[in-house]
Amino acid sequence: MSRSYRFDTVAIHAGQPSDPLTGAVCTPVYQTTTYAQDELGGKPEYCYSRTGNPTRAALEESLAAVEGGRFGFAFASGLAAANAVLQGLLSAGDHVVASQDLYGGCYRLFTKIFQRFGVQFSLIDSTDPAQVASAVRPSTRLLWLETPSNPLLRVTDIRAAIAASRSRRIGVPAPVVLVDNTFATPVHQRPLELGADLVLHSTTKYIGGHCDVIGGAVVTRDEDLAARLKFVQNATGAVPGPQDCFLLLRGLKTLSLRVERHAAIALELARRLENHPEVGRVYYPGLPGHPHHEIARRQQSAFGAIIGVELRGGVQRVRALVPHLQLWPLAESLGGVKSLLCHPATMTHAAVEPEERRRIGIGDGLIRLSVGLEDVEDLYEDLDLALAATAASVAVPASREAVPA
Ligand SMILES: *Cc1c(COP(=O)(O)O)cnc(C)c1O
Repeated sequence: MSRSYRFDTVAIHAGQPSDPLTGAVCTPVYQTTTYAQDELGGKPEYCYSRTGNPTRAALEESLAAVEGGRFGFAFASGLAAANAVLQGLLSAGDHVVASQDLYGGCYRLFTKIFQRFGVQFSLIDSTDPAQVASAVRPSTRLLWLETPSNPLLRVTDIRAAIAASRSRRIGVPAPVVLVDNTFATPVHQRPLELGADLVLHSTTKYIGGHCDVIGGAVVTRDEDLAARLKFVQNATGAVPGPQDCFLLLRGLKTLSLRVERHAAIALELARRLENHPEVGRVYYPGLPGHPHHEIARRQQSAFGAIIGVELRGGVQRVRALVPHLQLWPLAESLGGVKSLLCHPATMTHAAVEPEERRRIGIGDGLIRLSVGLEDVEDLYEDLDLALAATAASVAVPASREAVPA
């Protein structure tokens, strides 16, 4: 685009001029594997759809623009995007420092796959810059931050973590910094402007936004990093199909409308749940009592729509509650129009060993709410009724509670 436009304009126009052939105002789904070439040895823009596809190119340009980057790469899933970053940057012997309450699938990718190939990982509390500084070694190639984190909504000060990762590195290149921006979205958090080198998305979540497409993306401003990602994307081939790219382009156009409303509903629900007698603790960075409320206010323009809720009565309570809910299906994933409830200990974080889960504070009575776009009164009422209906399931007499199971 010739002028520099603001977010909502960029999300609708960047990478998506009217189709040069027909004038179609929406980028067509180029459902083709290959492209006829004019001559031997020519250098056509498109030659094979793993390498490049016009629908995917529109999505990639659009994603780069909304994150304030220069280069975007779309992948078949968020984990395929994470995998491409690790493959593009790391070799055996390299070291990665990462946030400890990482998305469970990234944790599994790190510890079950890349560790086998000789990459080392230190999982630390990235909300504490001192821990970042002391975890960094001469071989640290990558700092991987996820903020707000999943499912406890811990907020890392991105600037402080980056500064800490560089504080003791005289004569060695600084680690590349990646921020998984899936939870906050580019509407509410701007990692590249805060100094990160790479932004990662599971576009399955808010960018798709309608619970109907799996996808991932990486955005950067750095030419060298872009060349590495482009190479891996083509060399390993975990690319999305054009129909999925089309759905993601459609999602992007309403991203800011949706996430503003998601966040408003979530804040209201978090406030009400915090005062609910059947609820233990509520983890939501928009609540003044959240330990990272201040940094969330400075770093994000809203607090997102994921809420962690510790229920009275532990895992038995969660089990009893689920059948009573009508508007909160028990399901993995998040970030869509439909509200979802998940139990991290047995679902998203089942791949994290029980001791590790306990160490980082993911209790067995913790549920994670992904707040959708239904009416807030209906959402609250459904939870409130289910909590009331299951109150008896935790009213265990003290004498019985003392007997070990
Ligand atoms: C879902 C998710 C991923 C993985 O994305 P997929 O599209 O499921 O592969 C990575 N990071 C975060 C924060 C996520 O929520």
